[in-house]
Amino acid sequence: MMRILFWIGLIVLVIAAIRSKIRGKLREMTPPPGHPGYPGAGPQAAPTRELGATVECAHCHVYFPESEAVTANGRAYCSPEHVNLPPA
Ligand SMILES: [Zn+2]
Repeated sequence: MMRILFWIGLIVLVIAAIRSKIRGKLREMTPPPGHPGYPGAGPQAAPTRELGATVECAHCHVYFPESEAVTANGRAYCSPEHVNLPPA
């Protein structure tokens, strides 16, 4: 029984390691902010040329229209809650 649990734990760790590696690779390959293919460019974060400038949240690094930004301490945040959270 302990052997099975050991192998399950090992497999989970390997999968987690592979996933974090893939995520790191994707981050390298992501196009620059404002590009339509950028992950943050969802329905809420429309391309730059349609809604003006986009800014990056200092906490969660999501891109969103500058008009929706909450600014504090010279940084832009996506929501008032993230103002009180440290930069990630
Ligand atoms: Zn945020």
